[in-house]
Order: sequence, then structure tokens, then C-alpha cells
Amino acid sequence: MKKGIHPKYYRCKVTCMTCGNTFETGSTLPEIKVDTCSNCHSFYTGKLSFAADTGRVAKFRKKAAAVEAKANEAKTVEAAKPETK
Ligand SMILES: [Zn+2]
Repeated sequence: MKKGIHPKYYRCKVTCMTCGNTFETGSTLPEIKVDTCSNCHSFYTGKLSFAADTGRVAKFRKKAAAVEAKANEAKTVEAAKPETK
């Protein structure tokens, strides 16, 4: 190996921030923190796990439901009106 051009190689401790699982690997970083690992990722566990539904889709669905409710209310009011000729 040529001297002075290679980064330091560590026995790296990897910690999963979701499930707390730890394992060791080799890396140029002494410590790595990951969001998901093979212990808790649904691909490996075979179980579905969704994060709390608080994103843009949830916001849109809430808005759409409100608009639909308002439209239904308007229809009901329209239908309840007595016909005038
Ligand atoms: Zn994990």
C-alpha cells in the first residue's frame, strides 16, 4: 500500500436509531447512525409498518374530504328547498 494516501480504516459501530440494533462493520468512519436496518426494515421483517400518516397525502385527503362534505351539504340544502314556479 502506498503511504499517506489511504484513509484510516475503523472497526465501525453501526447503530440503528429506529430499533436500537447495533452491529460492527469496517468503515473509514468510527461510528455510523442509520435510520433503518435489517432488524427493523419491513423488507426483512415481512411486516408492514407505516410511519404516522401526517404528510402531504394526509393533508390532501383531509382537504378533499372537507370539500366533498361541503358539496354534499350544498346538495342536501338544494334538495330541501321547495320548488318555486
Ligand atoms: Zn433497526
